[in-house]
Amino acid sequence: MTPKTSTTPAGPIENGISFDVEEYFHALNLRPVAPEAAWDGMQRRTATTTRELADQLAAHGVKSTFFFLGWVAARDRALVKAIHAAGHEIGSHGVSHRMADELGADAFRDEARSSKALLEDITGAPVHGFRASTFSIGPRTPFALEVLVEEGYRWDSSVFPVRHDRYGDPTFSRVPVVVRTPAGPIVELPLLTWRVLGQNVPAAGGGYLRLLPVAIVEKALRAMNADGAPGVLYLHPWEFDPGQPRLLRGGLGAWRHYSGLRGTRAKLERLLGKFRFGPLGPIAEAARTSARMV
Ligand SMILES: [Zn+2]
Repeated sequence: MTPKTSTTPAGPIENGISFDVEEYFHALNLRPVAPEAAWDGMQRRTATTTRELADQLAAHGVKSTFFFLGWVAARDRALVKAIHAAGHEIGSHGVSHRMADELGADAFRDEARSSKALLEDITGAPVHGFRASTFSIGPRTPFALEVLVEEGYRWDSSVFPVRHDRYGDPTFSRVPVVVRTPAGPIVELPLLTWRVLGQNVPAAGGGYLRLLPVAIVEKALRAMNADGAPGVLYLHPWEFDPGQPRLLRGGLGAWRHYSGLRGTRAKLERLLGKFRFGPLGPIAEAARTSARMV
């Protein structure tokens, strides 16, 4: 992509933008056709798309948080180095992409620890932020935030305050909040929701950006910013890659994974032109001193 000059949109609130750097075959929907034992034999595509996304962000002067899956980082240290050298924040997305409730407390701790050590070894910079696979921190994983504090994380962005068949906690704060754990406080940056008719509607990007009109995400960001809070978006490089191998044929999983892949880049471009965005770490540090504590 050719970098171009662009003016930064006006507006006082900087929203959070983040990418979970994993391969298309790590997505939960692809599990039935892409077991972990097969991953090393599969075509890897995320490096190319991740670099293209970094170029797209650079054209807008935007820095982001890139949560690297340990599996990806261990196989492509140069990619982590390049994204860090471009000025982006590096966070951890665990190692195996198993959900926190599948891992249980001990294996979750192992992954939080080893992925942090790996990423810090690659970049030489501390890793403070975490995102669990598939937003799997919530009522089923009461151990998770405490473990993250013990392992040296300062903030997390894994709670989706919505009702969903696989994840979510609709009772959780919709805005950044400091969570007290027995090990100490940690900032939680929940994914963006839009409050409609007394319900939290998911609007944080990802599948929702692919499947819904981009205007929904814009409305949600505007409403959140009008309340004085930043919205937090998540995206995956594979969501910008319509050329990925089609491993699923038909069914809900295929619909969830492949819908809208061709339109995502233009939608992101539109959001970058309309709103201010930045990495999640500074939002978390600001919240640490000013946010409500639960
Ligand atoms: Zn993921």
